[in-house]
Amino acid sequence: MITPNEKRKLDLSKQETIDLAQRDLRCPNCHFLVSKVYGDVRGHMEFKCPKCKDIYVINFNYFRTRSRSFLVTLIRVIG
Ligand SMILES: [Zn+2]
Repeated sequence: MITPNEKRKLDLSKQETIDLAQRDLRCPNCHFLVSKVYGDVRGHMEFKCPKCKDIYVINFNYFRTRSRSFLVTLIRVIG
C-alpha cells in the first residue's frame, strides 16, 4: 500500500523526468528490453533479464551515451 508521503515522492519523481531523455536498458546477452532509465541515472544497478534469467550488475558511468537531455542542457548553456 502506497502511503501519502510515498505517493508525493513518486509524483515528484515523475514530474522531474519531463525534460530527461529516456534510454532503453537492454540485456547485454540477448538484448531483451529489461527496463527504461533516464538520462540522469548514475551509479550501479543489478538487474535480472526476464528472458535469459541471467543477473547483471552495471555501472551506468560506463554506459553513458550522449543523451538528448545532455544536448538540451548544452544548448541552454550556450544559448
Ligand atoms: Zn537476456
